[in-house]
Amino acid sequence: MELEILAEPTVLESTVSHLSRAKLPKILKVQQAIVRASHDFMFKKGLTQLMPLMLSPITDPLNHGVVDASITYAEQRWSLTKSMIFHKQLALMHPDLDSLYIVSPNVRLEFADRADTGRHLFEFTQIDFEFKGKDRFFVMEFMEELVNFVFKRLNEEIPGLIQELRGELLPQYEKWPVYRTEKLEAQLGPDYEKIKSEEATDPFWLLNHTREFYDKEDPKRPGTYLNYDVIWPEGFGEGLSGAEREHEYRQIRKRMADVGTNEQAFTHYLEVAKEGRIPKTAGGGFGVERMTRFICRLQDIDEVTAFSRKPFTKAVF
Ligand code: AMP
Ligand code: MG
Repeated sequence: MELEILAEPTVLESTVSHLSRAKLPKILKVQQAIVRASHDFMFKKGLTQLMPLMLSPITDPLNHGVVDASITYAEQRWSLTKSMIFHKQLALMHPDLDSLYIVSPNVRLEFADRADTGRHLFEFTQIDFEFKGKDRFFVMEFMEELVNFVFKRLNEEIPGLIQELRGELLPQYEKWPVYRTEKLEAQLGPDYEKIKSEEATDPFWLLNHTREFYDKEDPKRPGTYLNYDVIWPEGFGEGLSGAEREHEYRQIRKRMADVGTNEQAFTHYLEVAKEGRIPKTAGGGFGVERMTRFICRLQDIDEVTAFSRKPFTKAVF
């Protein structure tokens, strides 16, 4: 008997099979309901919507390396948006704007080592929000309220889809537990975030990550930071990052030096900071595809997209 050797699918064939998956329209409907409910929540809470930027001379330096994504246009370098963190701060300089949000496409050309985390795409959408004059406690409460609002709406509007994809309706949570990175690391070792997420049945907050210069250092405990991540339970991992922001010129420069940011890339941002014009803000952003993955209990975030955006995937569309 001759063995039939199966040929590897071509890039075109795998693209077509990715977008022909039976579950895809249902997953997309859940994602649509998440975005729609988030818009309603933002409107109800009085945040003003900004349209996303896709190109700017400055973008988020991130706290991990990615492949450069910038182009030359009009004799200037423009980076594709990794996040709109600086534009959120700068837009809030307007005296009549107190809070804003953006449904923001982010391009992060992740290296191949993030292809199989189940959590990384090389382009995704985050719902990114920022408040003038607010602190971490306000933002954390806001996010907890948003999640309950969105989950309640999904249960009301698309109960059949939630039952089918998730296996049960979505919960309403009480106050989320709060942990600190240094304490969990001491208890559980370097994989603390993964271990804790796998153990958890409810989302929780993880405070104090050492990362980008714009996350505010705690003036009362130098070397610790006033930032906070949402960790989805059941092993789904990080779902949001946020922080109170550095806004004072000296402190921004100190933090840039601490983390090794190239000041030259931020000349104009620093000029504005030097004039004392960057407002005191706090905010955060959550990944839409990650929330969809968590709600639908999907193995891989790439199942959320019609066109695969898995790091280092070859594509024809
Ligand atoms: P960050 O500020 O880098 O933590 O990004 C904000 C949020 O966007 C994260 O908490 C995730 O929910 C989401 N996110 C970040 N990177 C990716 C990625 N490569 N693919 C999908 N979602 C992401
Ligand atoms: Mg993060």
